[in-house]
Amino acid sequence: MERMLDGYHRFRAGQWADRRRQFERLADAGQSPRAMIVSCADSRVDPGMIFDAGPGEILVVRNVANLVPPYAPDSAYHGTSAALEFGVRVLKVRDLMVMGHGLCGGVRAMLEGAPPEASDFIAPWIGIADRAKRRALACDDGADRQLCCEQEVIKLSLDNLLGFPWIAERVAEGSLRLHGAHFDIRTGRLSVLGADGEFTAVAAG
Ligand SMILES: [Zn+2]
Repeated sequence: MERMLDGYHRFRAGQWADRRRQFERLADAGQSPRAMIVSCADSRVDPGMIFDAGPGEILVVRNVANLVPPYAPDSAYHGTSAALEFGVRVLKVRDLMVMGHGLCGGVRAMLEGAPPEASDFIAPWIGIADRAKRRALACDDGADRQLCCEQEVIKLSLDNLLGFPWIAERVAEGSLRLHGAHFDIRTGRLSVLGADGEFTAVAAG
């Protein structure tokens, strides 16, 4: 906790002081981010840092393994779906990205099984991606199965996004674009999913 409060003091002296007017404007006018990202909860993957975004720029929802669950408007608790509804229907973001990452523990749990002490929620949650897991297990022998599964999870989440009728409608009318991306923690490189189904590294600026 002390380390967090030390960081808070640095924030107050640095970022807050530098961006005070921006925060005040956002407080008065409300937020209107143009982009939304579904990302992993992993502490090494921070969308705001990776895209150098300031306050109010990107709506982020993070969960284990950046999974989008199937559209299921029932009485269960749907945190990710609730965030999607807010971003797409209320804030009307224009770009919606699913960003996976290298060395993802959630994806490793898909391939190797969830830790036994994490069976209450993680096991059924990552079961959302069973189809991605099966595809990854069918990867070429020489392929990196973990990376393959991370990429398949991104594609599966994008497919599930289109199962939300109000997302599919906005994509069809051209007012919302979906994107897939993968961040490599070790190299800091971002790859984006192309129309050909392949991930290609973004040229370094
Ligand atoms: Zn992860």
